[in-house]
Amino acid sequence: MPNADKAIQGLVVAPRVVKLNTRSGTEVRRTIPNKTLRMVGAWCFIDQFGPASGKDAMSVAKHPHTGLQTATWLFEGGVEHRDSVQSKQKIRPGELNLMTAGWGVSHSELALTPLRNEPATLSGVQMWIALPNSVRNEAAEFHNYSELPKKSVAGVQVCTFVGSFLEMTSPAKVHTALVGVELKFLEANEFQFTAENSFEYGFLVIDGEVTVNGLDLKSGELGFFRPGTDTFSITNATGTVMLLGGVPFDEEIVMWWNFIGRTHEEIVEMKTDWELGTSRFGEFADAIGGRIPAPEMPTVKLKPYRP
Ligand code: MN
Repeated sequence: MPNADKAIQGLVVAPRVVKLNTRSGTEVRRTIPNKTLRMVGAWCFIDQFGPASGKDAMSVAKHPHTGLQTATWLFEGGVEHRDSVQSKQKIRPGELNLMTAGWGVSHSELALTPLRNEPATLSGVQMWIALPNSVRNEAAEFHNYSELPKKSVAGVQVCTFVGSFLEMTSPAKVHTALVGVELKFLEANEFQFTAENSFEYGFLVIDGEVTVNGLDLKSGELGFFRPGTDTFSITNATGTVMLLGGVPFDEEIVMWWNFIGRTHEEIVEMKTDWELGTSRFGEFADAIGGRIPAPEMPTVKLKPYRP
């Protein structure tokens, strides 16, 4: 990305609707990556989904990942996650599912909404975190964090699910300086905090609307601020805001489909390993059935980018 774009203070990124390759073509709202903004710290992918109901609220069959962590966060409903490190884990609102793909993992995600005694509606966000070179080829891991630090600050419900914020520290294992916080404006509509000087920040509006340091954001939009802001002042806030921040990621990456590598050739190798069903992506008993094939690669060579 050109330096001029990187210098933008208070950029608004509107989501675009993307159809996932699932039985029903589940629609998600994707804010990053985007032409104007690739990453926020190591956060490199944000998909917001739902509210949705019925058996296809989420039904993502077995598919692979490399070089990243997937962070799943729900607002309503539940999802069962299964993966090739033999995890079988239900996730609920207020919990974090964090899967570290490393060298390679495969997983599936199935909504609990059609089940009896489960909530009728599913909504949430899935975010990816790019892994730095030092750990990106390590073995895959999965953790569910159900005990996360939270507190009410002047009427705002604050839950820190990644990193440290307002003297709360999440137990979630990440590999670069990052923060992830859910802010729920139930009673209050204002909130202020002191920024980490080296962090860039994104404010994703889940529902309602919000003004961040004078920048008006609507539901579904992401407001981005490069490092250098001392204090953030959130006003006119309703609903829920996800605060994502971190030190700008300083490695060039190649991101294609569900893979993050460093070169075109690496991505080709990952795709081939998935197509051939090598041991790289493991095996597991899945409740959905089938596996999602990799799409065709573009005819031009994938270029690395520095975010
Ligand atoms: Mn996935």
